[in-house]
Amino acid sequence: MRRVVDLSVPMRVEDPRGTLRLEPYRTLAKDRANITLVTFDSHFSTHLDAPSHQLANAPTLETVDLKTCVGKATVLNLSEKKAGSQIDRADLERFTALVIPGARLLLRTDWNECYGKPDHNEGYPALTVAAAAWLAERGVSLVGVDTPSVAPVYEGMEITNAVHAPLLKAGVVLVENLCRLKEVPAGPFTFIALPLHLIGLDGCPVRAVAVIDDERTAR
Ligand SMILES: [Zn+2]
Repeated sequence: MRRVVDLSVPMRVEDPRGTLRLEPYRTLAKDRANITLVTFDSHFSTHLDAPSHQLANAPTLETVDLKTCVGKATVLNLSEKKAGSQIDRADLERFTALVIPGARLLLRTDWNECYGKPDHNEGYPALTVAAAAWLAERGVSLVGVDTPSVAPVYEGMEITNAVHAPLLKAGVVLVENLCRLKEVPAGPFTFIALPLHLIGLDGCPVRAVAVIDDERTAR
């Protein structure tokens, strides 16, 4: 039987990051239809980073190859990583056989079990520059994380830029703030994370899902 696991966090007005706003634009009472004006930043909730997010004069969202956003993916279980720890090259080399050209890799730390809580943006496990460079060198096509960013943004923008740069320069699609990676088998399964067709942007929320054809549940 086919299962679809939602890997995206709900987009709520109450989110502590606070950029989501919903305002009535048309109403049933006045206009005979409900339409809502929705405002949020381009890196709100589960989202995709375009190269122009952290690189000057780099490609924008509409150039992201949708073939990369849809296809076989694998979860790398790094759930032993706790607050304050880094994901270094050695942590990823345990999975070298899976880190191959074109691979879509979802790094599982389970950090997003605290999504929406006050400490969510502090001390989450993030890639080191060496780990990011190694993933880019190995030619992977997509890296997903279940933390606010691939980089330790809480340590400042210098390190944040340094971690993003090798990945974005190599055209690796980054998907951040995934959740529920523990609910999917290691893989491979079909991963889908599609941004809106917005022109000129640096990123966009995505609805990320895992499509799993599970023979056990068919019995
Ligand atoms: Zn990012």
